[in-house]
Amino acid sequence: MKTEFVKLIDVTLCTACRGCQVACKQWNEMPGLRTKQQGSYQNPPDLQWNTWTLIRFQEYAPKDGEFKWLFRKDGCMHCTDAACVKVCPSGALYHTEYGTVGINQAKCIGCKYCISACPFDVPRYNPETDKVYKCDLCYTRLQGDQQPACVKSCPTGALTIGLKDVMIKKAYARVKELGGDANVYGDKFVDGTHVIYVLGEKPEVYEHLPKSPSVPVTTMLWKDILKPLSLLSAGGVIAGSFLHYIIHGPKLPDEEQGQEPKGGE
Ligand code: SF4
Ligand code: SF4
Ligand code: SF4
Repeated sequence: MKTEFVKLIDVTLCTACRGCQVACKQWNEMPGLRTKQQGSYQNPPDLQWNTWTLIRFQEYAPKDGEFKWLFRKDGCMHCTDAACVKVCPSGALYHTEYGTVGINQAKCIGCKYCISACPFDVPRYNPETDKVYKCDLCYTRLQGDQQPACVKSCPTGALTIGLKDVMIKKAYARVKELGGDANVYGDKFVDGTHVIYVLGEKPEVYEHLPKSPSVPVTTMLWKDILKPLSLLSAGGVIAGSFLHYIIHGPKLPDEEQGQEPKGGE
């Protein structure tokens, strides 16, 4: 039976200690690569093939309020209607029994279709291995009844995980408690994500966070219409060839023209 989990990220409790970012690298044995100072505390500047989760630092000064920092842990949202799974031709990306989206690097052929399709700009490509990488919500840890490494490491309770229904209720209760512009982000699009946020501000305030993400039309067109049609027409060609073989038999060499290829001696 499927047990759906949701990881809840309450950004209002995050202190940007980056314990989760480090724990993710350690657990997944991802190397640290040299980065350049970009004039921000955010480091590295973006998600990378070796950085599957990143704390985004944002300076925010509302018109009628005081300056504040907005911190947001970014990474895979584990969509129910996952564009990356839809377009992956090799089966490297797949839905797990927990409702999350796993990745099997051994099957990845480096086509990068998932990178173009993902509405959250998550998967990252490593040219050295010709593979794509992203968070798998610590699939093997879930299988061992362990919390994801990032959740385990968070000292403030900003990260928690549990059964989907329970976590969604928890998120809405927290939003009610916070009041103001606080809102739940993630349960209302792409058929619901398995990472959801409690945001302190409206979604449009946060940089690099789509307001109402959806599976790209081109992905739906390919997966739901063109691919089945192409399989149908391929099936038609095979069936036609088979029928031709049954009616006319195998094609034999033309005796008058001889069997040698043109230009032969
Ligand atoms: S966020 Fe992107 S990479 Fe993650 S499951 Fe959704 S479509 Fe796939
Ligand atoms: S769930 Fe696991 S892989 Fe995903 S960000 Fe957390 S530690 Fe990294
Ligand atoms: S470990 Fe928790 S408090 Fe620290 S950066 Fe990550 S989410 Fe924020």
